Amino acid sequence: MDTVTKDEFEKQYCKNSGMSKEEYDQHSITLPCQCEADDCQGWASVTNKPLFIKIHNELYGSR
Ligand SMILES: [Zn+2]
Repeated sequence: MDTVTKDEFEKQYCKNSGMSKEEYDQHSITLPCQCEADDCQGWASVTNKPLFIKIHNELYGSR
C-alpha cells in the first residue's frame, strides 16, 4: 500500500475525475481513511455534508 499526502491524494482524485480543485472543494472534503482496501492510500474523498462525514468517520475514521 502506498501512502500519499492529502495534497497528492486530492490532486490525483481531481485528475482522475476531470475536476478542478475548486470544484472538488465545493462538493467534497478529504478525510483520513482506515479501510482495508488494497488500493487505499490512507485518504478518502467524502461528500461535504455532515451525514456523509459522520458515516465515514464511524466506518473508516481513525480510532
Ligand atoms: Zn480507504
